Amino acid sequence: MKLTTMPSEFQEALPILERIKAAGYEAYFVGGSVRDSLLGRPIHDVDIATSSYPHETKQLFARTVDIGIEHGTVLVLENNHEYEITTFRTEDVYVDYRRPSQVAFIRSLEEDLKRRDFTVNAFALASDGTVIDKFSGIADLKAKKLRAVGKAQERFEEDALRIMRGFRFVATLDFDIEASTYQAMVSHAPLLAKISVERSFIEFDKLLLAKAWTKGLKQLLKACAHHYLPGLEQAKEACLLMIDQLGPDFCFQNDVQAWGALILYLKMAEPRTFLKAWKTSNEFQNAVLQMVALYQLRTKRALSKADLYHYGKEIAQLVENLRYAQGLSTDFRAIDQLYQALTIYDKHAIVIKGGDLIQTFGIQPGPKLGHILKQIEEKIVDGDLANTKEAILNFVKKELANE
Ligand code: ATP
Ligand code: MG
Repeated sequence: MKLTTMPSEFQEALPILERIKAAGYEAYFVGGSVRDSLLGRPIHDVDIATSSYPHETKQLFARTVDIGIEHGTVLVLENNHEYEITTFRTEDVYVDYRRPSQVAFIRSLEEDLKRRDFTVNAFALASDGTVIDKFSGIADLKAKKLRAVGKAQERFEEDALRIMRGFRFVATLDFDIEASTYQAMVSHAPLLAKISVERSFIEFDKLLLAKAWTKGLKQLLKACAHHYLPGLEQAKEACLLMIDQLGPDFCFQNDVQAWGALILYLKMAEPRTFLKAWKTSNEFQNAVLQMVALYQLRTKRALSKADLYHYGKEIAQLVENLRYAQGLSTDFRAIDQLYQALTIYDKHAIVIKGGDLIQTFGIQPGPKLGHILKQIEEKIVDGDLANTKEAILNFVKKELANE
């Protein structure tokens, strides 16, 4: 098969292929970008595979970064784009069902394509537009089938992350899993316990954010893969309820909302521990926990100006959007209005600082000063105190007189 028109992302990258070929090596576009272009989906990251070894690739380009040189990957910076150029390789030494500890560089494209996970991810696109399809990936694309390259059992044994990737591709591509591939995913799911949590997180996170997330998650649950994922061992019923309530057309707006919803449906007593078990960043944990907290507040009452001040508009909108999907009452206008009515968005915007109070009133630094500053902040947020020096000093004067 030959592409008649190459998407612009490939056209822009063609000079890279040509430069490698002019030096006597082979080079192709590979991976998700070829799959997505055949599906007419938007392309991100154009990846290149080549017969040149990393040190040979580096000699061909002025600006390169060794991002994964031991796995054969060189990053090339060229006309404001970044391209990952990876040497054809096999993965021959697997330790403990994880990623290979060693890779062997080779000069054969076919061997390189064989080590790829699914047939629809194992295309190579030549510079003249020819699609190299050694494993009937085009037929699988047409049939919307996800099929492992080669013997599924062996492939999942080599790297169990491919099982998670499988569910993730069901969700992103809205494909079904071919029967023997699915059987192997089920039988090898226990190996997921050996996969690094960070790698599983990336795939599970992409699954949740995908358009067909309900399909991907249902398949994952049916295969009992959740038994081997942190904190999700008992999650089947709760996840099915979430799928049922939110419905097939709902898409999570971002991963803060997705993981927040998961925590809410699972009724997690210790959500921080759950997010830590997935080795997520503190920043992510804080955002998710804020979303969960605001959701819980919102079930009890309408939002206030102080809520918008403390949680921010974005979190409030995520909460409201989740409520909308659940068929609960919503008030998006109130969020805009409350947010706009705020006179400060940050305590640094308060015109009086602690130092001013120490100077003017001789208050000593300590809990009392902290308490007064907190009161000032709250009153300004609620709209009960103007953010002017005069008003704030007057307020403090009264407070001190009342003591
Ligand atoms: P996306 O569109 O999300 O980037 P992708 O298919 O490009 O999806 P990547 O993780 O970017 O996925 O990997 C690029 C390619 O590398 C894949 O298409 C596949 O051919 C191969 N690949 C990646 N991870 C694995 C793996 N664990 N086992 C086998 N092949 C893999
Ligand atoms: Mg990719």
